[in-house]
Amino acid sequence: MTAQILNGERIALGIRKTVKQQLKQRARRDMRVPSLAVVLVGEDPASALYVRLKQRDCRLVGIDCHVYHLPASAREVEVRKLVERINADPKVDGILVQLPLPPHINDLNVLNEIEPRKDVDGVTPQNMGMLSLRHPAHRSCTPKGVMTLLEHTGVQLLGAHAVVIGASNHVGRPMGLELLLVGSTVTTAHKFTTNTQEISREADVLVAATGKAGLIQADWVKPGAVVIDVGIEQQPDGSLKGDVDFDAVVNIASWITPVPGGVGPMTRVSLLQNLMDSVNRAPA
Ligand code: NAD
Repeated sequence: MTAQILNGERIALGIRKTVKQQLKQRARRDMRVPSLAVVLVGEDPASALYVRLKQRDCRLVGIDCHVYHLPASAREVEVRKLVERINADPKVDGILVQLPLPPHINDLNVLNEIEPRKDVDGVTPQNMGMLSLRHPAHRSCTPKGVMTLLEHTGVQLLGAHAVVIGASNHVGRPMGLELLLVGSTVTTAHKFTTNTQEISREADVLVAATGKAGLIQADWVKPGAVVIDVGIEQQPDGSLKGDVDFDAVVNIASWITPVPGGVGPMTRVSLLQNLMDSVNRAPA
């Protein structure tokens, strides 16, 4: 079997076109241009790259994006005060705090400061809580993007065994909750799981989110499984590798995402979708 490729670039392009149409309709009705505020603290090159890509995505569809860049030495209270100030700005529809924050800053304290209605990254305790209570509001962008990819496969998720490898706050955990929400039977594996390969082989839907390049080999995958690779690891030559050994697993799976060009573009376009939801819910 050779898997069908889930092309995140192409699917994201289609969604961006829809968002662009919505923005044109707003413009025709003289409604204001939506606005995203991004808070970036420090000089981490990967974070700076992700922020530039988000700015570009906004520019492509016609959303204003303002980046507030604080030095790595910024104190937690300064970051929290900035978020508070942006919360109060009626012209800002969405706020994204680029993670990770420098180690002296408590992520949770900062994220907790974001007004949940403007939390277009879906990372506040309020929005995570709503997802776990089966009333999702703003959904965390990477798991949301994965769910959109899964919809494109047409594969039945109700009753399917979904295995998520990785249990982080912003990827693995909300991913499991999203899959539960659509009626899958979910198993989560993480670095302390002793039989991850065995569990992985049971999956009808396998989502790998560890950041360990090439962890998922052909003998980790059940024939015909849908394999979603969230992982990104930069190699010494600058190329990007996922958690899945693509060349081997493509012969086993029914569907597979490439890295790059699979989950990454879907994460970014989910942010635009969340922003439009926020705009549409904003007081007129
Ligand atoms: P993280 O480091 O916070 O979490 C990694 C998780 O993987 C942990 O729960 C850990 O227990 C688990 N893990 C590590 N080694 C393991 C192993 N050998 N077996 C089983 N579990 C193992 O990382 P994260 O923020 O969740 O991100 C995971 C990966 O996804 C990273 O490569 C990150 O760059 C990538 N990522 C991609 C996107 C995207 O849009 N494509 C978005 C977010 C994160």
